[in-house]
Amino acid sequence: MPLQLEVSGVTVAFGGHRALEDVALSAEAGKITGLIGPNGAGKSTLFDVVTGLRKPVSGTVVMDGHDVTKEGPSKRARRGLARTFQRLELFGRLSVRDNLLVAAELGPHRRNAAQVVDEIIDRLDLGDIADESSDELPTGIGRLVEVARALAVKPSLLLLDEPAAGQDPEETERFALLLRSIADRGAAILLVEHDMELVMEVCDQVFVLDLGKIIASGPPDVIRKDEKVLAAYLGTEA
Ligand code: ADP
Ligand code: MG
Repeated sequence: MPLQLEVSGVTVAFGGHRALEDVALSAEAGKITGLIGPNGAGKSTLFDVVTGLRKPVSGTVVMDGHDVTKEGPSKRARRGLARTFQRLELFGRLSVRDNLLVAAELGPHRRNAAQVVDEIIDRLDLGDIADESSDELPTGIGRLVEVARALAVKPSLLLLDEPAAGQDPEETERFALLLRSIADRGAAILLVEHDMELVMEVCDQVFVLDLGKIIASGPPDVIRKDEKVLAAYLGTEA
């Protein structure tokens, strides 16, 4: 399978502090790639670099074989990149359907935006709440709608920043199935998530960031037993 995303040698500095140092990571089409690490490890900063919101000091970002390092967020979005944010960022006063429509009308399928939106509402079983104002939704459902909105641009690379935060176990279980179905349709998913059970269940590959550096990568079974990873989470030396 082709690589949808290839990050290499990425360094980001905030003043004197290096939030990322020489980071390399890749995400394959049709696969779910996890990005985990303790708070402050640099996960959201790496998302900002991939989406073009933050310029790295050095390093490259390649999407589907194209070097996009010098491109801005909207150009990358047109190449098929979509993301959700750690903080919920729905348009609160718009209905669920209109949140999706706004996104679809910006995407490559703008000509049949309404049809794209209907399909997603159907697929994610959001019919009952489609006309509700999104600021009235419980957090767990809001998370799902955020993913639905990201899907409205039919992304080939989907970045999710803690999408399961605030979901109950049943919602998370449904969410795992949804992620798998998105990947099965060919998109690459890069998933930042604190719910370790979810990460280990759905991810094909996992990268571990600690203090701005990748300290391990591999399939969940390997990561689960990696001593550097265990130490990073316990906050002790390996
Ligand atoms: P994570 O998402 O893994 O919790 P972040 O990417 O949010 O980590 O943060 C990585 C590091 O960079 C932290 O030390 C954080 O304090 C710092 N940082 C993040 N954003 C900024 C910013 N805009 N200005 C200064 N420091 C920042
Ligand atoms: Mg974060």
